[in-house]
Formats: sequence, C-alpha cells, structure tokens
Amino acid sequence: MTDPCYFFGNSITGKIARSIDWAETSLGKAEDWPDCLKLILGMMYGNLHPVCLFWGPEHKYFYNDSYIPIVGASKHPWAMGKKGKLVWNEIWEYLLPQINQVLSGGGATWNEDQYLPIIGDDGKPRDAFFTYSYSPVYEENGNIYGVLVTCTETTRRVIVDKKLRESQESLQLALSSAKMGTWEVNLITSKVSLSEETREIFGFSNEYESADTAIDDFIHPEDRAHAREFLRRAVESGKPYDDVYRIVRPDGEIRWINSKGQARYDYTGKPVSLAGLTFDITEKREAQLNYERIVDSSPAMLWITGQDGRCTYLSKQWYENTGQTPETGLGFGWLDATHPDDAERAEKVFEEANRERKLFYLEYRLKQKNGEYRWCIDTGNARFNDKGEFVGFAGTVIDIHDRKTAEIKTEEALQARDEFLSIASHELKTPLTTLKLQTGLQQRFNKMNNENVKERFQTFLNLTDTHVKRISRLVEDMLDVSRIRTGKLSFEWENIDLCELAADVIGRLSDQFTRSSYDIPVIKRCEGASGYWDRMRVEQIVTNLLTNAIKYGNKNPISISIESDDKNVSFIVKDQGIGISEENVGKIFNRFERAVNSNEYSGLGLGLYITKQIVLSLKGEITVKTKLGEGSTFKVTLPKLV
Ligand code: ADP
Repeated sequence: MTDPCYFFGNSITGKIARSIDWAETSLGKAEDWPDCLKLILGMMYGNLHPVCLFWGPEHKYFYNDSYIPIVGASKHPWAMGKKGKLVWNEIWEYLLPQINQVLSGGGATWNEDQYLPIIGDDGKPRDAFFTYSYSPVYEENGNIYGVLVTCTETTRRVIVDKKLRESQESLQLALSSAKMGTWEVNLITSKVSLSEETREIFGFSNEYESADTAIDDFIHPEDRAHAREFLRRAVESGKPYDDVYRIVRPDGEIRWINSKGQARYDYTGKPVSLAGLTFDITEKREAQLNYERIVDSSPAMLWITGQDGRCTYLSKQWYENTGQTPETGLGFGWLDATHPDDAERAEKVFEEANRERKLFYLEYRLKQKNGEYRWCIDTGNARFNDKGEFVGFAGTVIDIHDRKTAEIKTEEALQARDEFLSIASHELKTPLTTLKLQTGLQQRFNKMNNENVKERFQTFLNLTDTHVKRISRLVEDMLDVSRIRTGKLSFEWENIDLCELAADVIGRLSDQFTRSSYDIPVIKRCEGASGYWDRMRVEQIVTNLLTNAIKYGNKNPISISIESDDKNVSFIVKDQGIGISEENVGKIFNRFERAVNSNEYSGLGLGLYITKQIVLSLKGEITVKTKLGEGSTFKVTLPKLV
C-alpha cells in the first residue's frame, strides 16, 4: 500500500514531521493537505540545501535536515509545524515584512549576508549572517499560500571577510604610518606596480611596463646602476632583495628608500614575481649621515667591537691616520698598526677588558700612514643591549703624541737635572775640600817660624789658585747655561786671529797638557784665519775642545789644525782617545748629557752644550767624527763675518 504521507520521506526532519499528529492542528490530517503543499514538502525534505517553508495564515513552519543547525538545538525539533512567529520570535520583525511581501504578490526577496541575531544552540542570541531568498508557493487556485525559504548561513565567511578587511585596513594603516609601501615586479609580464601607499613616499603610485622604466622614472640618477644590479641579482638568484637608494619625487625632493623583497613562485616552483616593501628611511639616514659627519669631523678615532672582540667599525679618522682600509683594519687587523713594543700589552689589556667587560685605558704608539709612530690614548667601555646582554665594546683613540713627548722630555729633563745636581755637588765638593785643607795648613804654617815657610806658602797659594779657578770655571759654566737659556749671552765684537788666540789658550793650558803627560800641541801657521768675533767666547770654544781632548784623549798625541777659506775659518781638534759610541754621539751637545761614567771622568756635561750654543750664536757649525775606542775629531767652523 502506498504511504499517504510519502512527502515526509525518511530524513530526520521528515520523520519528525511524520510523527506529529497533524489532525490535532489547524492544518488537519497530513494526507488531506493540498497537493501543492505535499509537492513542496516532498521536494524540501528530500533536498540537501537548507530550505524551510512558512505555510498558511499562521505561517506554519517546516524545515529540512540542512536547516537544523540554523533552527538550533534550543528549538529543534520543537519548531517543526509551529507558528512562524513562535519559532523566529527574536527576528520576526525582520522576517514578517518579507513574508508579507511575498504573500501579497510582491515577488521574491533576496538578502545577501543579512545580519540576523538568532537564538543559538545555547539559547542565547548569536551574531549570524545569511544569504537567502523568500519565494511564493501557489495553491491550485492560483493564490499564494506559502513562502519557501532557501537559505545559506554565511556567518563564517562574513566574519573571515570582516577580519580580512580589518587586517588589510590595519596593514594599510601600519604601512602608511610607518611610511611604507608595497610593490611588485611581475616576472612573467615584466610589469612593475607600486601600491597606493607608495604615494605617501614617492609622491605618486604607478604602473610601469618594465623595471627599467620604473628605475629611470623615480630613482636618483646616481643610484640607478646599483638599483638595476641589485634587482637583477635578486631575480636571478631568487634570494631576498634588500637595497637602499634615493628617489626623486615629482616635487624634486630627494628621499632615502630601503626596499626589501622576496621572489614568489608558482605551483611548479617557477618564480612569477618579486614583491616587497619600501620604507622611507630619509630621517634615519639623515640622522646616520649627521652622526657620520660628526664622527668624521672629530679628531678622535672611533671604533666598535663585537661580542667576540673583533672590530666591526672604525671611523674615517682611523683610516686617514693609519692608512689602513676596512679590509686590513677590521677584525683584529687594527693591532698591526700598534707599535711592536706595545702590541702585546695592548692585546692583553684589550682581552682582559673584554673578559671582565670593564672600562679600559691604554696608551700606545700608533703607526701612521707615513710610517711614523704617534702616542695615543685608547679608551673603551663595554656595550650592552636592551636586555642587558654584553654586545661588545665602543671606544675612542686620541692622539696625545705632542703632550706625551713633552711629558717624556720633561721626565728626561728632570732626571738630567737630578743627575746634574749630584755631579755638580760632587764636582764642587772636590776643590772645596782641597781648599779647606789648604786654608787649614796655611794657618798652621803662618804660626810657624820656619825659613822654608815662604816657599811652601807659595806652593799652597798656587794650589788654592788652581782650585779657585776650577770652581770659578764650574760656576761660570753654570751661569753661561742660564745666560743661554734666558738669551742673555752677550758678545763684544772685534777682529781676532784664531791662530794667535789658539796659541794663547794652548799656552795657558800647557800645565794641564804636561800634567796629563801630553806633548804640547803645535799649531801650523795658517794665513787669513781671522774673523770678527767675541774673543772671550771663542777662547771658551777652544778651551772646551782642548780640555775635553786632554780629559778623554787617553794620553795619545793630540793634533790641532786651523783651516781657512774666503768666508770661514775652522778649528779642528783631533784626539786618539776613548771616542764616543754611535748611540751617544747624538746626545753630547745637549745640556747635562755625558757619555762617560762620572766616577771615572769629572765634568758637568755642559762644555759641549755651551760650545755649540756659542758656535750657533756666531752662525757657525760644530761637527764630530768619532769611533768608540779610536778617538774623536771635533771641528768648529765660524764665518769670518757674522
Ligand atoms: P763634560 O766633559 O763635562 O762631561 P762636555 O759637554 O764637554 O761635558 O762633553 C759631553 C760628553 O761628551 C762628555 O761627558 C764625554 O762623554 C763626551 N766627550 C766630549 N769630548 C770628548 C772627546 N774628545 N772624546 C770622547 N768623548 C768626549
């Protein structure tokens, strides 16, 4: 026997409808329902698309299996056959006008992503969106008696779309507030497109036929070649693209751009586009350039090292001073510019500071590009990042050469002064002791009534005279040094024959020559050896050179010669004594400098200094040829007319 309620079918909702005692409702027995209702219900219960029906004046509600999720757990299966208003009370105000429109012959309705806050499974209203159509269902008499609803819930898509839109909006906002834009090079068509956001940066956004035309259009002429090269490499290698260049905006303003991009591939792995971001880094770049300008104009050399101690940055001044290049200076190459005697210490101090991450201070000699070494102070301090992690050191190198050499000179001068004081006191003490002794003896002799007294007295007087002269000479030398230092060395000019003057001096020193077992040297006569000089000062020169020859001549013969030409007269003293080492020969004309042991040879180290200063004042020259152990030849040349 055929099923009189065949139109309910066997679906879940069909079975529910079938189980209802329709005879008890205003619709009456189901088998008696109009054919059009049976037809439409048959189609509805058999359909897998969400479909429902409002039927009759009470808008009795029917829905199929696919509609269960929309009706919701809180209403299903109760809702089947109930009045439409009861089922959809929460949104009835939206639905009724549409139902009425259809029932009154106003035609079907269409709603896309319509917001309807229906009651959800949990019995609470939920935000839901639907795309649906209400269409008329006719009775045999041609009247519209029902409204068929085909509906799809689009909530998920709408929410995803909304989120997508929001994220796009925030991306755009982020791009424009971060002064960024997007771009794409289509590797198939070669076309280049700049996104709308680039307008902020570039002053326009555009599409180009090729990358070349794009580059020629807005990249600064000086940066075009490398921009092309960077792009070519990124396309060929498929590696990330990262370039910095300048653009010229339509208003002529120049801006610095950092452009980063990445190739995109199709499903076969073929690169189809290069797309990325452009950042306006003008301000950052300007700040960086300003920083570089400040650093570069500073006389200090700046450096930065990394965690491993390797140098990662050296300022321009470093390269200019040392002649190094980034290739030779970075890493540990900077150590090569350190004086070999300081390198080990520098390395040790630097390593220790790195290990202990503490401030360091170092003085060392830095090799300049001309090969000279200059004293520098190198100070550095540990660097830490925001998280407090050690990231390396930063420091400065300052040239202190002039100060340092002055310090060294002062130190040497102080040392020389101390030595001088000790020698001077010793030098003065010896004749003073003798004088004291002599005076005592003389007083004793004075009291004696002895015949020999007169003769002995004379001997004492001679000795006293010698020692007084020695003290006078020492004091005179010291006074001369102070006169030279204060520029008060005075001259009285007269015509002098150097041969006669030298013979006089030798005569006065004859005692010393003989006492020290030398033959008295003879000067060969020489014509025209006269000039316009200061007698006392020239005597001083001759005396100093001769007494030195006696003192350091080792008792070997001393020879003296005088040479002259039109303009100059030279006085040459040659001895065959101890000579002077190469190392010391440069120092002997300085104040207090001596190349001998004070216990062995008396002297203050002032004679040659005074001699040289007098010679220089007379616009002359003094030279020495010497060899240790073989003797020395001193030659003074004076112009005849100063
Ligand atoms: P002083 O003789 O008092 O030490 P000088 O200024 O005259 O001072 O000489 C400086 C130094 O030069 C001497 O100490 C000595 O070492 C060296 N010197 C000078 N003349 C000679 C010489 N003829 N032979 C070897 N050394 C000399």
